[in-house]
Amino acid sequence: MSTGTPPRDALVHIEQATFGYDAGPVLDNVTLTVGARAFMGVVGPSGSGKTTLLRLMLRTATPQRGTVTGRPGLSVAYVPQLETVNWNFPVTVSECVLMARSGRALPWPSRQERAEVARVLERLGIGALARRHIRELSGGQQQRMFIARALLRRPQLLLMDEPTTGVDVTSRHDMLHLLAELNAEGVAIVLTTHDLNGVAAHLPELVALHRTVVAVGTAREIISASVLERTFGAPMEVLQHLGMPVVLDHFDAAGQRHQASA
Ligand code: ADP
Ligand code: MG
Repeated sequence: MSTGTPPRDALVHIEQATFGYDAGPVLDNVTLTVGARAFMGVVGPSGSGKTTLLRLMLRTATPQRGTVTGRPGLSVAYVPQLETVNWNFPVTVSECVLMARSGRALPWPSRQERAEVARVLERLGIGALARRHIRELSGGQQQRMFIARALLRRPQLLLMDEPTTGVDVTSRHDMLHLLAELNAEGVAIVLTTHDLNGVAAHLPELVALHRTVVAVGTAREIISASVLERTFGAPMEVLQHLGMPVVLDHFDAAGQRHQASA
């Protein structure tokens, strides 16, 4: 049932949205609300439409049916998946971060802008790397640079595609900590992840996606054998450990092995 009006505190509300690229729909009849303080993880198998869902929220994709509404004046920032980035682009870390500032009055950065970039890089623990070429960073550092870049836009909503893929365990832990901190400061976050045990299990709200929203709920509700089976199309075993769900390695419908924790 369409309600027509999004919930009051919604930053983004997607209502019965269907979207496809050229062939059939990759997202079908999706209804989802991103609340003002959201810290939401999107989980689902490869090709289930996670990146496309972020693109709907970012408004770089427009549904053929249904609607996406954003709070008026909403500022959204996007952190792309590292694999999709052209690392040969000849810029330094601080230059790359500065490029986030669109519509600048001057073609060169002001003293204030430089100071703000330095502050953001410092906060993310990569201040010392400001003059490095972006190619010379580790996965975790690259990811931090993109977050710095996103933060410079002072977003109310931060969208991140697979932020912990290609990042080591320590960086992953630091990343989750940083995101929780940003969220506590009022930045709503939606991220996609393959990592059920290492990332998804730690988030307050999860969306199980497979072409449509299979379920929305807490980590305990979503990381359950029945929801995961409906989402991944294969039986999955879930244990409880210290009150947290733990998924055992599993196989999808195509027989492809997934490691529950990357
Ligand atoms: P996920 O992020 O969950 O892996 P995607 O949203 O990237 O899923 O992709 C969903 C489906 O849409 C896949 O079948 C994929 O091949 C297709 N797709 C994604 N991007 C494009 C594109 N730019 N053009 C055509 N098809 C695409
Ligand atoms: Mg993707």
